[in-house]
Amino acid sequence: MATREQKSIVICGAGIAGLATAYWLAVVHGRRDILIVDPVAPMSLTSAASGENYRNWWPQPELAAFADRSIALMRDLAGDGNTHFRMSRGGYAYVTRRQDTDAMIGEIERVYGHGKAGDVRVHDHGKPIPDADNGADILLHREAIRARFPHLNPDVRAVTLVRRAGDIDSQQMGQFMLNAAKARGVGLAPLEIEGIAENGRRLEITASSAGEAKLIEADIFINAAGPFAKRVGRMLGVDLPIDCVFQQKIAFEDVHGVVPRNAPFTIDQDAGPLDWPDEVRELLREDPETAPLAQEQPGGVHVRPEGGEASRWVKLGWATNKTAEPPVRHPTGADTFPEIVMRGAARLVPGLAAYCEDMPRNLSHYGGYYTRTPENWPLIGPVGPPGAFMIAGLSGYGTMMACAAAELCAAWVTGSDLPALAHRFSLERYTDERVMAEFADTGTDGEL
Ligand SMILES: Cc1cc2nc3c(=O)[nH]c(=O)nc-3n(C[C@H](O)[C@H](O)[C@H](O)COP(=O)(O)OP(=O)(O)OC[C@H]3O[C@@H](n4cnc5c(N)ncnc54)[C@H](O)[C@@H]3O)c2cc1C
Repeated sequence: MATREQKSIVICGAGIAGLATAYWLAVVHGRRDILIVDPVAPMSLTSAASGENYRNWWPQPELAAFADRSIALMRDLAGDGNTHFRMSRGGYAYVTRRQDTDAMIGEIERVYGHGKAGDVRVHDHGKPIPDADNGADILLHREAIRARFPHLNPDVRAVTLVRRAGDIDSQQMGQFMLNAAKARGVGLAPLEIEGIAENGRRLEITASSAGEAKLIEADIFINAAGPFAKRVGRMLGVDLPIDCVFQQKIAFEDVHGVVPRNAPFTIDQDAGPLDWPDEVRELLREDPETAPLAQEQPGGVHVRPEGGEASRWVKLGWATNKTAEPPVRHPTGADTFPEIVMRGAARLVPGLAAYCEDMPRNLSHYGGYYTRTPENWPLIGPVGPPGAFMIAGLSGYGTMMACAAAELCAAWVTGSDLPALAHRFSLERYTDERVMAEFADTGTDGEL
């Protein structure tokens, strides 16, 4: 016999999306009687795999504005001197070997010239460039690049330094929001939601924990189930247009001190081959499954120091997978990924080649899903029956956008004023041909 309970608001999922939504509803809007349910520990699924980077540098003005808002909210939450959680302003560095720098600048201005991410400034001299809190500085002077980034490959021709960017300790941020929400009475229960039915004016939620069934009646239900948002959406009678694409990272102890501790999050934009020993390349070519590894690889590999000055850890990532798959609770990556990403990163930071033949002893390899819509925009707003909402499809930007996403979700739930882009980030966009046509024009969705 299932035990019964009544709640005003039930949030399904204690990842960064669910915790931020609980924070906004309880702390900002003063809503009471909220329960977060999740069978696993808070922040332990996709949110634990995040690279924890943030930027307002997005090709689409809507995402740039949304990220910009989220960064402002995060900075407020972090507190003066990062008293609540650590948030760096280290920037992003997009690096290329391209020689047609005029064409490159033209492309940057065309794609990012919408103004929502700030101005683009070009520097072709060796003088120091002033610090900035927004926009991007394109560095073209090779000696100045060498002096500032001595660890990068000397063949680098241009570095685009994005200023409103850096990294955050997202576990601390999630914990901070959870603690503040709990202090306002928000509950957290280790339950898995299995079904949702309409029951007159309320939603009847079936959940279980260790074989024990529970029925919760709620006025409001919020789907913040991350990679399982599609499954939970079906419980609400809606087939959400989201897919899961597995992406991997490694973190390792940089015992040779190759990556300077003050280096920004650095992305190699150029495609190129991996530097395999000749005999390995021959072996790779012989097997049709591994042959692609002997060919040119896409750009996008990224490197950043992890944990501040006192640490020796470095994170590497490369979101090369494009194949959607049904999500599982414990996804595992290919054993070959650590060496592949290390070889990819060694093209950009040659000192990392020292680890390619002798992989670091202290290394962790992990991953999670980018839960994406086809156009890589989030889904936030009403879904299915009255009283049901979602905060989903946060792709590879859920850490940096969580605050703005939660603010928007809470505005939908409480009937507050909605920002202009609210309808574009809800299911309504699929009924607006004009909005959908814009995606075809952009050419890039900004994924890293
Ligand atoms: C490799 C990688 C690198 C990334 N790097 C960055 C980055 O640098 N910057 C950035 O901003 N973002 C990054 N992201 C994206 C970011 O991590 C995600 O967008 C974000 O963590 C998603 O949070 P979430 O709360 O939606 O999902 P999750 O963290 O997955 O949380 C969903 C929760 O819902 C629970 N749940 C699911 N089904 C049910 C159910 N039926 N009942 C109860 N609970 C349920 C799950 O147990 C889970 O705890 C990265 C992602 C990956 C995979």
